[in-house]
Amino acid sequence: MPLTGTIIRRVHWPLMERLKQNRTRQYLHELREAQQLSPQALRERQADKLRRLLDHAVRRVPAYTEYASDWEAANDDPFRFLERLPALSKARFRASSDQYLTDGADPSRLIANRTGGSTGEPTRFYLNRPAVERYEAARWLGLSWHGIRIGDPSVMIWGSPLELNQQQARRFRLKERWLKNRLMIPAYDLDERRLEEHLRLIRRFRPVYLYGYASALHLLAEMMLARGVSPGVKLKAVVSTAETLHDYQRQAIAKAFRAPVVNEYGARDGGIIAYQCPAGRMHAFSENCVLEVVDPASGRPLPPGERGALLVTDLHNTVMPRLRYQLGDVIALSSDGCTCGIGYPLLAAIDGREDDMFVTPHGTYVHGHYFNHIMRNLDSFRTFQIVQHRPDMFTLKLVKEPDRYDPADEARLLGAIRDKLGEVSIEVCHVDRIPPTASGKTRYAIRECPLTGFVRE
Ligand SMILES: [Zn+2]
Repeated sequence: MPLTGTIIRRVHWPLMERLKQNRTRQYLHELREAQQLSPQALRERQADKLRRLLDHAVRRVPAYTEYASDWEAANDDPFRFLERLPALSKARFRASSDQYLTDGADPSRLIANRTGGSTGEPTRFYLNRPAVERYEAARWLGLSWHGIRIGDPSVMIWGSPLELNQQQARRFRLKERWLKNRLMIPAYDLDERRLEEHLRLIRRFRPVYLYGYASALHLLAEMMLARGVSPGVKLKAVVSTAETLHDYQRQAIAKAFRAPVVNEYGARDGGIIAYQCPAGRMHAFSENCVLEVVDPASGRPLPPGERGALLVTDLHNTVMPRLRYQLGDVIALSSDGCTCGIGYPLLAAIDGREDDMFVTPHGTYVHGHYFNHIMRNLDSFRTFQIVQHRPDMFTLKLVKEPDRYDPADEARLLGAIRDKLGEVSIEVCHVDRIPPTASGKTRYAIRECPLTGFVRE
């Protein structure tokens, strides 16, 4: 929809800026300028922002006032000071979240946000407008690396907005369509009977890019490949977000949609953290946040290249600062430069959620990806989910490929699981489908018992 895109760029955005003081485009401009700076210059800008945030936190945020005199004595190196603060786990934040609200901040005037959380316990927090607009700006910058502009039409493969009534849903669709130039396809409705209908919608809408969960995009891609249908639109990119994007998913999505697959790394409670560049590397938005990687057991900072627990410090959310917030992801930083010319620092790896890690009865850790890799080599199953109830007790849900199912594959799978996890009890259930979670994501690996000693409290 080229006309809508132009109207959004020329009318809607300038109006939002004038009437609502929306500064997203200004932040986008700042981020674009900064990407040309040297790593050292970027680090200095980050230090200035961090210094301002720490100044604010120790004065006006109850959770941090006890550090005021320490900070006074050590404010020449804000990074080193930050390293000495304890990591902030979600559980700890949840237990005393009001302590993180800046003195005098009025929650009714702030943007309330919450995450579902795999344990089912929501984390509630508040954001100010600049923080949210800077996340938005980071997303637009990342998209611009792939030739996508504000207002370009997109199709979003997403969880259904179930919480809306009919009137709200109508208003939501109109806003999506005319203010965001976006068409939503709910991830729930993705089944083969509706494939043609979805593709018709996509072709008629003529998006410049698709945006959605890795698992939902992958499912759509597999259905298209199985039927040999083409997308029928020329896409600049398919943007995968909210879940770990596995290589096999990336390959299938790229093949089905005949477009490059771009990974967006962000979290509801962490903002837009990093984006894939045209050279295929992940650049972190160091203007918006400080990232640290620590050993999950000892809390010791880890050097670039080593995987550990990610700690995020948002530099702009002064209404509720969370310093060293443990997002629950396992990643590795990188000290490499990138051939694409963008100066933002690189990530070496994003392994996914700590929640997707399993613990063996002997106390060693196995990432959920391991099971994914085994499954890729077995033709018998369409999909699966493995749930760890206790270190020695699992349920394995399997969706068979009816025409290709071979019981020997199942024995092989159980053997491979026991190989890694030890002599554990595995209850196998054959099911017709694995329902996505309330947010529309499909989880392959679920751990219900604590990862003892893994997360520092
Ligand atoms: Zn790059």
